Amino acid sequence: MKNFVQRAIQKIDQLDNKQIVDILRSQADEVEMLESVLESMQDGVILTDEKLLILYANSHCRTLVPMARLRSYEGLPLARVLEDEQVLRYILLCVQQAGEDEHNEFTFQKGDSVQTIAIQVFTYKSSSIRSRSSFVIMFSDVTEHNANEARLRRSENLASMTTMAAGVAHEIKNPLAAMQIHLQLLKKAFVRKHSLTIDDAQRYIDVLEEEISRLNGIVVDFLFAVRPMDTRLRLGQLNRTIEEVCAFVEPELQEHRVQVNRDLCTSLPRIEFDEHLVKQALLNLIKNAMNAMEGGGRLTVQSRLDGNLVLVRVVDTGIGMDERTQQKIFEPYFTTKASGTGLGLTVVYKIMKEHKGDISVKSKLGEGTTFTLAFPVPKSERLALDQTTTTEGRYEA
Ligand code: ADP
Ligand code: MG
Repeated sequence: MKNFVQRAIQKIDQLDNKQIVDILRSQADEVEMLESVLESMQDGVILTDEKLLILYANSHCRTLVPMARLRSYEGLPLARVLEDEQVLRYILLCVQQAGEDEHNEFTFQKGDSVQTIAIQVFTYKSSSIRSRSSFVIMFSDVTEHNANEARLRRSENLASMTTMAAGVAHEIKNPLAAMQIHLQLLKKAFVRKHSLTIDDAQRYIDVLEEEISRLNGIVVDFLFAVRPMDTRLRLGQLNRTIEEVCAFVEPELQEHRVQVNRDLCTSLPRIEFDEHLVKQALLNLIKNAMNAMEGGGRLTVQSRLDGNLVLVRVVDTGIGMDERTQQKIFEPYFTTKASGTGLGLTVVYKIMKEHKGDISVKSKLGEGTTFTLAFPVPKSERLALDQTTTTEGRYEA
């Protein structure tokens, strides 16, 4: 249709009046059809010229954003019609192409409920001679969509809470049973002897104390794993945090005959991370590595830049894991240790999710294990990255 009209315009001096009237009619029909399409949409649509004079507005607009009560908006400046300053400011920013990072959802009170409206602004460049830009402004009601997403997140959390709670119930059974047995033994010994010396009672008390501390560990770990994390992401240099963690654990590792290697990339961009949480994650991984190297070994902590990711690897030369174990290690309460809680890696996984990052594992029985944490590099830092960056550079601390 567009091509037909373009061709007709080129030959306009060769057309007679009737032909021109026919073309105009067909154009009017097309405009009418487009208008009825725009009217039938759930979204609000406003079309303006480059000076933000309204060329067209469908009738849904006024139900979505506050607008002046007028019969028609055509020919009026957008600023006179839109009655919400923030919305107007956002649209102006978009039009000046500075609004990329602006929030494009706005909330409005509507009767008893709150409505969330997403706003998008598109630039339309006309192909006609004037080649001016016009703008299409779309308003969509995303209240229901957002509510559904929140519901989904809540039910995911609830599901993992239930798994965790079931795990806790299972975990506390053993220490409670041990305590019950030892209390009964203590009672029997007391009945038998009538009076007990501290030496008689000591072995029962020891077990009770040990089990109480185990219970405490289970509850503290559980709370840490289910509690919403108070994550404070700040832009910073991850190498520094890795250094601090290594310095902190080195004496204990040396005592266990584990040698610590640092292998840090010199040209890491800054990333957004919560220092406290990342330290916690690294400590959990290093503690597991130490447990896997009973007779000593080598622990390597590595940082690398890989595309838009900063990778941190914790590599050990310990006992390793078979495939089946590897598939289960991030599940809450999965442990192969007599006194393990099985929550260490669950917490690391959760911390990486808070950073919009990821964790992966590679392991071979009898040879060792590598855990890799991947952190996204923020957009602002990607631009600052030197093109010639080598990912194999070493970091001098
Ligand atoms: P826990 O340390 O309390 O057992 P984790 O969640 O930290 O709980 O680890 C779960 C399991 O994953 C461990 O019991 C162990 O079997 C396995 N695992 C974790 N890290 C390593 C490692 N570096 N080498 C070998 N096995 C590991
Ligand atoms: Mg652990």
